[in-house]
Amino acid sequence: SDDDLAVLDAEAGEHGSEDDRVLPVVAIIGRPNVGKSTLVNRVLGRREAVVQDVPGVTRDRVRYTTEWAGTPFVVVDTGGWEVDVHGLDARVAEQAEIAIELADVVVFVVDASVGATGTDEAVVKLIRRSGKPVVLAANKVDDERTEADAAALWSLGLGEPHPVSALHGRGSGDLLDAVLKAVPEQLVGEQEASGGPRRVALLGRPNVGKSSLLNKLVGSERVVVDPTAGTTRDPVDELVELGGRPWRFVDTAGIRRRVHQTSGADYYASLRTQAALERAEVAVVLLEASERLTEQDTRIITTVVESGRALVLAFNKWDLTDEERRHFLEREIEQDLAQVAWAPRVNISARTGRHVDRLVPALDVALDSWDTRVPTGRLNQFLSEVVAAHPHPLRGGKQPRILFGTQASTRPPRFVLFASGFLEAQYRRFLERRLREQFGFEGSPVEVSVRVRE
Ligand code: GDP
Ligand code: GDP
Repeated sequence: SDDDLAVLDAEAGEHGSEDDRVLPVVAIIGRPNVGKSTLVNRVLGRREAVVQDVPGVTRDRVRYTTEWAGTPFVVVDTGGWEVDVHGLDARVAEQAEIAIELADVVVFVVDASVGATGTDEAVVKLIRRSGKPVVLAANKVDDERTEADAAALWSLGLGEPHPVSALHGRGSGDLLDAVLKAVPEQLVGEQEASGGPRRVALLGRPNVGKSSLLNKLVGSERVVVDPTAGTTRDPVDELVELGGRPWRFVDTAGIRRRVHQTSGADYYASLRTQAALERAEVAVVLLEASERLTEQDTRIITTVVESGRALVLAFNKWDLTDEERRHFLEREIEQDLAQVAWAPRVNISARTGRHVDRLVPALDVALDSWDTRVPTGRLNQFLSEVVAAHPHPLRGGKQPRILFGTQASTRPPRFVLFASGFLEAQYRRFLERRLREQFGFEGSPVEVSVRVRE
């Protein structure tokens, strides 16, 4: 019912609790009517929240955060995707492929009372190819008498079928145990990384002003040096209160420990950049406003973009610039930093403190974009409008069509488009530009990948 959906939406909107980079993602896939939605409701502990008896009803929300035995995870329900919303062709395999892409663990639901069908076998192939861990749910085993139906599903070659009755709850605890056991280990126990202060990496080539900025930010504020136990790299984080909130500046040991222009300093700097990025959510890349941008600057920026972290550009040593220099800087930015035209820019002076207070709003913007999720319905609405206005150019007399799109993840936003033919790079860039125009994403990389199907 509408009310239940509203409740689910409200929960999902809460920031930080639904951190899908960190929480394991479990996708429930299978043919229509095998009981996926019923199973999702069972897992969520809500009996009638999602099952829709009315054909043609779709839901935007397909992700729910829940927990089992104290382990939080995200459930992706694909039940609503079968429906043909915007004239887009949606087949079972397509839906399954998207869901597998999103998942850390796949729960493949088969109707044991029917047995494995040809469609089921096709989905098995997709799952195998993905290499993702899978738990086979033999649904509609409502009582002991039908357990044999479940055993027959060993034939699918996916390992042990777990007999379950999504409708009555029978076997669902065992199924969930199996699901959590299948979660890749590195995803378990990382939960503490979500929530808490946001993690910032201060990057930039030597002498650009990183340690000066760090000192300025720290100022008279209370600093807590937080050595992370159990690591060999001696990363030291500093917790700094800015704008009334704590922020975690990661790997500041490398900034504090002065590395002078000795040989190997570049190499060290690039190692440090990567290590810091691994632990950060957003990077502030410092650039020297008073000097020409260098290749090393753009290399650092590229590393940030490739790591998928949010990005803020800080032009430091503004106090050393004059009008002429600022004029040339604008042109250098247009030329050399065109690929990151979406990144917020702040012009600061770590020495005088000029505009250092503008960093926090820029970080907030970038992180908000990084966290943004575009609902599937809205995305497809947007795609059909863009494609209608600007169709892909004909190729060999054929028109590659976009069948369906979904945002596979946040942090950063990653989109997967399913198309009937190869999309040219130029057209993909066009779509990315339009996505940015429509949904913002200031300060965040956005990934668009295309799956072609015949
Ligand atoms: P979906 O299309 O895969 O999401 O399937 P639904 O969850 O909408 O279920 C399809 C139908 O199967 C509904 O009428 C459910 O009540 C029914 N169903 C789901 N699970 C069970 C079960 O464990 N036992 C029985 N007997 N019926 C079930
Ligand atoms: P790091 O190697 O990136 O940590 O750079 P430092 O913070 O050590 O700064 C290198 C040099 O630049 C030092 O001499 C700083 O005093 C100077 N510096 C840093 N920020 C500014 C600034 O905003 N204006 C001016 N004029 N000098 C700065």
